[in-house]
Amino acid sequence: MGLSKTIWATPTEYLRHHSPDHPVLFFSPAILQATARRFIKGFPGLVTYAVKSNPDETVLANLVAAGVKGFDVASPVEMDTIARIAPGAHLHYNNPVRSRSEIRHAVAMGVASYSVDSHSELVKLGELVPANGVEISVRFTLPVEGAAYNFGAKFGASVEKAVDLLTLTEQLGFTPSLTFHPGTQCTDPRAWDSYIRAAADIAKAAGVKIARLNVGGGFPSHRLNEVMPQLEATFDLIARVTKEAFGPDAPKLVCEPGRGLVAESYSLATRVKAIRDDAHVFLNDGVYGALSELHLVGVIDRIGVFGPFATPRTGTSVMRTVFGPTCDSLDKLPSDLAFPADMEEEDHVMFYGMGAYSVATATKFNGFGQITLETVQTHR
Ligand SMILES: *Cc1c(COP(=O)(O)O)cnc(C)c1O
Repeated sequence: MGLSKTIWATPTEYLRHHSPDHPVLFFSPAILQATARRFIKGFPGLVTYAVKSNPDETVLANLVAAGVKGFDVASPVEMDTIARIAPGAHLHYNNPVRSRSEIRHAVAMGVASYSVDSHSELVKLGELVPANGVEISVRFTLPVEGAAYNFGAKFGASVEKAVDLLTLTEQLGFTPSLTFHPGTQCTDPRAWDSYIRAAADIAKAAGVKIARLNVGGGFPSHRLNEVMPQLEATFDLIARVTKEAFGPDAPKLVCEPGRGLVAESYSLATRVKAIRDDAHVFLNDGVYGALSELHLVGVIDRIGVFGPFATPRTGTSVMRTVFGPTCDSLDKLPSDLAFPADMEEEDHVMFYGMGAYSVATATKFNGFGQITLETVQTHR
């Protein structure tokens, strides 16, 4: 082990010392491990992590340290990363569309759990993957709401088709399971209720006893001040509805959160470049950087504004339109934000809950996006 990096108490301590002119992401390993333990303690089954939401190797190592034993991997690169950082962890290859060479890679890595949502991809797996002890989960979708955007638009078989796919999965000798993803940032737990009952109907119609039910990601993070995610209540609902719907044939449960596990462990410091003609706020990061997801999932209003020496601004709120630094006119946050009226140029604007789909998708478009990463004990 080399020298350990500086661990700052909070982002404001860092801002006081450095007053950075580039965006900074702050990672709290303690908060990530606490969230992981909350999932492991509360979720009534196996907790796996959807690597795409934040594949940073320090994140992965901290999840392993907290006891996460399975990972949802979508590509050979993600498989190789997990094999290196978490040797022996379960790899769940739940990207339902794969090339033949990707499947061969997975077989060589010992992947024993796949998902499908189409006949052609199931036949392909049947040709390339020895069935012995290997699980295939049929992924289905329902037209239910509750999430920030519709995942079913790309993936998931209809209920009728899922019945056929489940039957064929069993005939091919694979261990039959079911899976769904209710949609990311799913703040309405009733979505899981509908999906779990539909899963029981699919298994019954196919006459197949499923080994496991993977209830997806979709667990929301705390993005808006007034909408607090109800994690434990959702876990309890999942356990109760599974018992009710399946009775004595209840499958083992799996979840594969990305956002819900990792979001709260990061915050982002941006800097006010300009307040143009006392109206528009221009920040040094935007939708091509760590805020890339906001125009898909909606704005984050858990923010804090800090003036010189990281002193919090406390003025009354004014709503302002917010732009990122690039010359692209799309580089604008999807909703106005409330900022303290005494905010000035060169202040720092902190966004909280920034761990998911931020580092993973940031670009360096137009010469911006030089984001650095610092470690903190906690965020405020
Ligand atoms: C992206 C993804 C997840 C994680 O979704 P979150 O909304 O971040 O929890 C889980 N499972 C699959 C198959 C995914 O593609």
